[in-house]
Amino acid sequence: MQITAPPVLFVGAGPGDPELITVKGLKALQAADVVIYAGSLVNPDLLAELKPGAVAHDSAPLTLEDVVELMRVAVAEGKQVVRLHTGDPCLYGAIQEQMEQLDRLAIDYRVIPGVTAAFAAAASLGQELTLPEVSQTLVLTRIAGRTPVPEREALRRLAANGGTLCLYLSVGMIDQVVAELLAGGAFHAATPVAVVYRASWPDEKVVEGTLADIAARVATAGIGRQALILVGEVLAARRRGVPERSKLYDPGFAHGFREKS
Ligand code: SAH
Repeated sequence: MQITAPPVLFVGAGPGDPELITVKGLKALQAADVVIYAGSLVNPDLLAELKPGAVAHDSAPLTLEDVVELMRVAVAEGKQVVRLHTGDPCLYGAIQEQMEQLDRLAIDYRVIPGVTAAFAAAASLGQELTLPEVSQTLVLTRIAGRTPVPEREALRRLAANGGTLCLYLSVGMIDQVVAELLAGGAFHAATPVAVVYRASWPDEKVVEGTLADIAARVATAGIGRQALILVGEVLAARRRGVPERSKLYDPGFAHGFREKS
């Protein structure tokens, strides 16, 4: 890491497995004096990386004001602060409001990205999310809950495009999710769905089905939170095979790094 790191670093902890933090994120954690971590999903095993004397605060019971005050005091004391977020901090991480407060206080910061849950879920499934002729698009979204979603991004509207969808923060409303996805028109009862609970954690669970039966399967598995919902025809490839191989490794297709064979 650079010798002159800004006093606050927002670090993506990754999806759960403590080895899925980046090298840069781990180094930042090991160098930190104060760590404020999202206790609901960040693996506490990562805290074993803290140097002796470093202090860790769980942000779960704290308000934005509390978090910023912890940062302000630590920085004023010349300490290095790490704000540890689950997955990648830029997705559903509420970091913008923290950065805004730090701007106001003229405290410098930087973001170190992390592996988001969607990619851990795809890895657990052994599934590519973009397949030629099937889908070349991945939409990361959620259903409206206590946090509203702009109407133009309503799930049924996104579902009208088909493609691959990955829903965060939505498994607790799986019935509405299924209804919205079907209402879009591009998906149908047989469209494959995978729900991955706590991807990359030791108690990870994968439930697969179709839009017709996934809600019942999720209920049977007792999954109500900490899971992702992946939807789209790409998920059928493990059963049916890929309809069209990629051009990238096609012997008849030359590109900048390989000649035609
Ligand atoms: N910033 C995080 C997302 C935070 S929102 C990221 O990039 O992954 C919290 C939601 O993310 C959870 O409700 C769940 O939908 C999803 N999530 C986080 N970690 C997960 C995991 N290991 N497995 C499955 N879903 C996960």
